[in-house]
Amino acid sequence: MAKSPTFDRYDTVVIGAGMSGLAAGIRLAQAGGRVAVLERHSLWGGLNSFYKKSGRRWDVGLHALTNFVPKGQRGHPLSKVLRQLRVPYDALQLGEQKGSRTVFPDAQLRFSNDFELLRSQVHEAFPAQASGFDALAAAVAATPIGTGDDQASARAYIAAFVDDALLIDLLLHPLLWYGSPTPMDMDHAGFVVLWKSVYEEGFARPAGGMRPLLDVLRARLADEGGELRTNCGVAAIVHGSHGVTGVQLEDGSELETQRVLSSAGWVETMALSGTSSAAIEDEAGRISFVECCAKLDTKPSDLGHDDTIVFYNLTPTTIYDAPANGHLELRSGVLCCPDNYANQLPDPEGTARITVLASPRHWNGFDDAAYATAKQEAFDGAFQAVQSFAPNFLPHVTVRDAFTPRTITHFTGKRNGAVYGAPKKRPDGATPIDGLHLIGTDQGLLGIVGAMMSGIQVANHHVLAPTTS
Ligand SMILES: Cc1cc2nc3c(=O)[nH]c(=O)nc-3n(C[C@H](O)[C@H](O)[C@H](O)COP(=O)(O)OP(=O)(O)OC[C@H]3O[C@@H](n4cnc5c(N)ncnc54)[C@H](O)[C@@H]3O)c2cc1C
Repeated sequence: MAKSPTFDRYDTVVIGAGMSGLAAGIRLAQAGGRVAVLERHSLWGGLNSFYKKSGRRWDVGLHALTNFVPKGQRGHPLSKVLRQLRVPYDALQLGEQKGSRTVFPDAQLRFSNDFELLRSQVHEAFPAQASGFDALAAAVAATPIGTGDDQASARAYIAAFVDDALLIDLLLHPLLWYGSPTPMDMDHAGFVVLWKSVYEEGFARPAGGMRPLLDVLRARLADEGGELRTNCGVAAIVHGSHGVTGVQLEDGSELETQRVLSSAGWVETMALSGTSSAAIEDEAGRISFVECCAKLDTKPSDLGHDDTIVFYNLTPTTIYDAPANGHLELRSGVLCCPDNYANQLPDPEGTARITVLASPRHWNGFDDAAYATAKQEAFDGAFQAVQSFAPNFLPHVTVRDAFTPRTITHFTGKRNGAVYGAPKKRPDGATPIDGLHLIGTDQGLLGIVGAMMSGIQVANHHVLAPTTS
């Protein structure tokens, strides 16, 4: 039976109903605290939300639920998250990927949810690097999450095991695309997390996309007595000499609380608390994307395309940075075909999505007409670019949409539309203000499972542990 407390004073206020905020809210409500999850928009899910357009439901960010493990496997991030949130594994209705690959002009590597495929691909294409690759894989497998070095370069770390520059790029490329806030590289701590979640564990997709998963989380929050308040933006975090005292909402009202967990981002949270500075603003990330989404009159597999995800680079060396001179970088990207997961709901249409790098500065400067033209250009350019390794989807496109750095800022408040936040992460979630903690992207764990893990970890560490010990 759902409990339903509605008070103006809360034990904890969570800013943002993305994956980290929902998970933190559930965890805190389970422990009996009065918790409100406040979301500026009408829908919950943040970067992993959904929307309706042209009579169809579209996912915002979902390419893959990373960290896939089969039912019954314990001790992995996905199983830990589900256990802590008391969500049954079957509620996610996961379908596994068919298989993915990384494609460069002179080489490619296939991988799947079986790590041995990647190993055999490396051994076959780069025989001289086989033992180095095995040593790298063993070293990462032996590094627990949370013990990586956040000051060390992942690129340099891989190079200590394998010395073929192309292989280093091939291995790093998907991990950069699925979670690096840093141009061309990432830190070792993030690399360990992403290697495990992409290569050791792998990809799955909930049948029906994000909506069913978000419904499960929303229902869990309500069942535990937590409150989700949508259309409820936080204008300011109020604090005094003893720390947080409340939040001021965008409608002018105030909620009292001595604890705020914020998923708004480090730079954005400091601005809400009135303690930002030019130096803090400078910390904002700048890796942002245009996501080009298409409905097709056929399934990609009917056109001979069976890959679930292709991470591609059309030049000999990795490109992963905001384009310096233009608004788009079409030579590097990710092609995702959600139909190429097992166990998806019947749908007569096909879907293809392409993510490309974009310069927030340029997109934010466009007037409406230039913006509309640039979106069109991104869509056409991205779908033309993938034709060197995938079918020409363009004649099959029935409905199209694209979202940009500007959309990401509008719907999440993230400066620069920086999908993976600021390069410097704050694993302890700490801020200079007592009672104010960071969760989500800028705490350091990303993606659907990572962000939920982040919300749970910070709730456990800063809120539940001190009161239960
Ligand atoms: C194109 C794209 C593709 C992606 N693909 C994948 C994928 O395939 N798999 C995967 O695992 N991850 C993917 N991601 C990344 C993933 O979506 C994020 O890492 C994750 O959702 C971040 O969750 P979060 O809770 O940290 O932050 P967010 O999702 O950003 O949530 C923050 C929430 O806080 C709200 N908020 C901010 N400020 C305020 C305020 N002042 N008041 C009230 N509310 C506020 C925002 O509206 C937002 O809802 C993708 C992202 C994008 C953009």
